[in-house]
Amino acid sequence: MAIATVNPATGEVVKTFDPMTPAEIDAKLTAALQGFQTLAAWSFERRAAAMREAARILDEEREEIARILTIEMGKTIRSARAEVSKCARALRFYAEHAEEFLADEPADAAAIGASRAFVRYQPIGPVLAVMPWNYPLWQVIRFAAPALMAGNSGVLKHASNVPQAALFLEELFRRAGFPDGAFVTVLVGSDAVEKIIADPRIRAVTLTGSEYAGRQVAAIAGRELKKTVLELGGSDPFIVLPSADIERAAEVATTTRCQNNGQSCIAAKRFIVHAEVYEAFAEAFVAKMSALKVGDPLDDATEIGPLATEQGRADVEELVEDARAKGAQILCGGRRPEGPGWWYPPTVVAGVTPQMRMFDEEVFGPVAGLYRVTSADEALRLANATPFGLGSNVWTRDLAEAEHFVNGLEAGMVFVNGMTTSYPEVPFGGIKNSGYGRELSAHGIREFCNIKTVWIG
Ligand code: NDP
Repeated sequence: MAIATVNPATGEVVKTFDPMTPAEIDAKLTAALQGFQTLAAWSFERRAAAMREAARILDEEREEIARILTIEMGKTIRSARAEVSKCARALRFYAEHAEEFLADEPADAAAIGASRAFVRYQPIGPVLAVMPWNYPLWQVIRFAAPALMAGNSGVLKHASNVPQAALFLEELFRRAGFPDGAFVTVLVGSDAVEKIIADPRIRAVTLTGSEYAGRQVAAIAGRELKKTVLELGGSDPFIVLPSADIERAAEVATTTRCQNNGQSCIAAKRFIVHAEVYEAFAEAFVAKMSALKVGDPLDDATEIGPLATEQGRADVEELVEDARAKGAQILCGGRRPEGPGWWYPPTVVAGVTPQMRMFDEEVFGPVAGLYRVTSADEALRLANATPFGLGSNVWTRDLAEAEHFVNGLEAGMVFVNGMTTSYPEVPFGGIKNSGYGRELSAHGIREFCNIKTVWIG
């Protein structure tokens, strides 16, 4: 894939970039090692000051940065602004809490014959981050804020369609006052990743993206004995039970499915509705999906922009056509408009069966699968009948029923009467084919630390 900014709203190539040469990559890795050595010696206070400065830059230059995101991957300008602000909040969160998350943890010294024993968290070195285009800033900050606060350096290999965001991120940390090499961007295609992982200067790898890319990268990292954290796709269930607030559920269903033009790993994708409320929910949901304003992503009034890439739209279209051909009912949307750009309308597909690809594949666009069930148990079984296990949502006013789903859902996250969202305060990540490891909270910052046992006799 060429490294280029292609405006998804028009299909126009805005800017192309040459991939870095092996010598340029080598220089970046050397810088990252030196950046790590310098940063690891800094106090938490000093790292936090630079973090807060990065947050200040994001707040101050929000409009300009938001435009880069919208032009590179088509998200609406309003969601781009929200993304920038969310990043600033996460930077400040780790500036505030990293020291407490990584404080020495006392152990039971007497039980192990020591006079003193504790656990110390130390940075491990440069971490390679292979990142996707869907939240070009947030996906990276979610890794970088804890990594840098822990004293690691970051080497970013961003998706090939968001090179300007990638370059901006390197610039951001440099301008914020982090040492040279604390955060570097390598502008390379995915074919260059294997060599970078194998390089002894790289100590660990984090990847957010497709299951396929996750498997490739994890296989290489496994061979090289380097730790990985993987945040892959999801096909989150959204279960609506008879006691739910149907109107509210339909509203949140529309928001979650169509956030980021339908391209979010934690967007609910399978809407599993109890027969008692199926008709009411379906009617409200289809009405809200159909009413979304699709249009120029730079326009403040727009609610849905184009998909990020031509291939992404082709993939979505293929899944809908497969379902249609096998007998599904398309309740709204389902046909791409004529003209330039990678547009696809909000779509609701009912009557999805296990024979249809979208039953167990992730649909990365504004397409909802609607399922009717006749009991809570059937809802739970269907919710878990997926290779993925990222987020999950259940709507009920019955607390005992909610508890049953909280326990039974095979997912890294469960949201009851709300929408799966990432917050710095709580861990983020999945199970099954959605990956492993956790980002955010204290769990996230410890993923790339040496958890050192100290025993003193
Ligand atoms: P990819 O997973 O292909 O891309 C994510 C990152 O991985 C990019 O930096 C990409 O680089 C890199 N990459 C891809 N293949 C390899 C490889 N073999 N070795 C090393 N690095 C690799 O996402 P796509 O854009 O292709 O999207 C396809 C699907 O991925 C979507 O339909 C969706 O299901 C899922 N996805 C999930 C996301 C999430 O948030 N969990 C985010 C984005 C996509 P390059 O761009 O140079 O290919």
